[in-house]
Amino acid sequence: MSLEAALLDALLAETGDVVLVAGVDGRVERASPAYTRLTGLTAEQVHGRLLWELVGDPESGPAPGPRVLAGNDRWEGTSWLRDTDDQPHPVRLVLRRVLDPAGGHERIVAVLHSSELAREEGTGEEAGYRDALTGLPGRTLFTDLVGQSLAGARREGRSVGLVLLGLDGFATINDGLGVAYGDAALRSMAERLSNSIRRSDIIGRAGGDVFALATPLTADDHAVIVAQKILEAVNEPLPAEDTEVRLDASVGVSVFPVDAEDTETMMRHADSALRHAKRQGGARYQFYGADMNQRARQRLAVEQGLRRALARDELMVYYQPKVDVETDRIVGMEALIRWHDPEHGMVPPGEFIPVAEETGLIKDLGNWILRAAAAQNRAWQGAGLAPAVVSVNVSPRQFRDPGFPDAVADALAASGLDPAWLELEITESMTMGDADNAVARMRALRDLGVRLSIDDFGTGYSNLGYLARFPVTTLKIDRSFVRDVQTDPGMAEIARAIIGLSRSLNLEIVAEGAETVDHIAFLRDHGCPTVQGFYYSKPLPAESFRQVLAAGTIGPAEAP
Ligand code: C2E
Ligand code: MG
Ligand code: MG
Repeated sequence: MSLEAALLDALLAETGDVVLVAGVDGRVERASPAYTRLTGLTAEQVHGRLLWELVGDPESGPAPGPRVLAGNDRWEGTSWLRDTDDQPHPVRLVLRRVLDPAGGHERIVAVLHSSELAREEGTGEEAGYRDALTGLPGRTLFTDLVGQSLAGARREGRSVGLVLLGLDGFATINDGLGVAYGDAALRSMAERLSNSIRRSDIIGRAGGDVFALATPLTADDHAVIVAQKILEAVNEPLPAEDTEVRLDASVGVSVFPVDAEDTETMMRHADSALRHAKRQGGARYQFYGADMNQRARQRLAVEQGLRRALARDELMVYYQPKVDVETDRIVGMEALIRWHDPEHGMVPPGEFIPVAEETGLIKDLGNWILRAAAAQNRAWQGAGLAPAVVSVNVSPRQFRDPGFPDAVADALAASGLDPAWLELEITESMTMGDADNAVARMRALRDLGVRLSIDDFGTGYSNLGYLARFPVTTLKIDRSFVRDVQTDPGMAEIARAIIGLSRSLNLEIVAEGAETVDHIAFLRDHGCPTVQGFYYSKPLPAESFRQVLAAGTIGPAEAP
């Protein structure tokens, strides 16, 4: 295939516009996926058919036909797009004649701008095909598209969430600010929703003030995230005369295949969830299934609690020593966040870090712990304690945030800590995907003078080929390997291999989760000099850790 042809394929695959390419005889050669999405006709089905039949007016004959283009290179006007049932739908059409500079065959390109679809008079609105006000698919087209998407999901064993969103108190807007304002509000809601969805999502207007969205679900509480994101998008301020209004919405969600297996039942269930959300006062989401509601409630509780915790200083940093197995000397400490919730007691990080990650709270949380750990370490050094490296965990979203290196620099500047005494722990998963980009991010951090380690090493299917290129200083063997070194020869072998790998790559190595004297013996015998684990100490509050640091060395922790 020539580069031109490959470029054309790529353009056609990515554009949201309906594009058909035909030969000079009008026979269709290519069709963009958007064409298939809109009409249900695949590129294969229309290949070789006459362009004028696919985009022509039933009454006035094959128009715009070859005549229209005769002597012209471009034509633009209203035409008709036919779907699988041969139903014509009004569209805005542009035709262009493309001459081959090399003198080969000329082509005709037909483009239907999706934003312009059915904006003309006499739209297919009655048929529910396209909504004239917002340009979104109407109810009929939406349910058709969802039907196709469910068929695919069924084949591939995927879940799909169907979301119905109803604006709260929309009648008041119409009455108070006028119907024109109401229309504008609906249009901008449609735009916001379109902007907040992914390419694989389907969006439509289900009627009145109700929008509909179908989205493939990738994780268990993904639907919760989507529902929340939508509510946030709707609630952004909307300009109104000399003030602004904030709209609220109620959201109802049904999930394929747990709640229902066909589009119609999915719509009905989402609708009943939506009405439930409205009855409870609106500005909220509701799932059809009891399970999801339970999960959503828990998540919401964690999120709200965490916001409050940040505001009220309910978060603390604990420190766990990293110890030299030969000398029992403290060589470093890992900062581990702790949340003491006045109602629920200690909430483990495994429960709230993922929620913080999904809601974006991790940014504030991560900056908070960076500053706290850097300041603490600087204070200990200022008090004359032997200097040690403090390690801070970095979550995926922090690592991807372009502002992260600046946040680290700020924390260093605010505390006055020498960068050499700060280490950031990232995990293998953050280095996957776009490895070149990951290397660039790591570089930016290393340029600040801080150390970098790969946490939980061995669990993330690293691309070992890249490891040599990563500007990291340390590997941390995951505790799952350490735990079983005595009982599972396979695990012992992996631990040995990771230690060997670190040595050949000239990286430092730390073993996590050493709990017993046997673990320590194994690690020492196999050349892992540094250990972190309950054998020496659990993570400790700062005041207790200060004493450990002052002593300089640590013996085995007393058995509980
Ligand atoms: P991690 O970074 O791998 O941290 C080590 C975890 O292993 C800590 O759990 C620690 O208490 C535990 N651990 C240490 N030694 C032993 C041992 O001998 N036996 C056993 N069974 N466990 C041991 P923790 O504090 O519950 O933290 C869990 C995870 O939460 C951390 O894993 C880290 O991924 C995340 N995390 C903790 N604090 C932060 C933070 O401030 N920011 C971010 N982004 N993540 C954090
Ligand atoms: Mg860690
Ligand atoms: Mg770890």
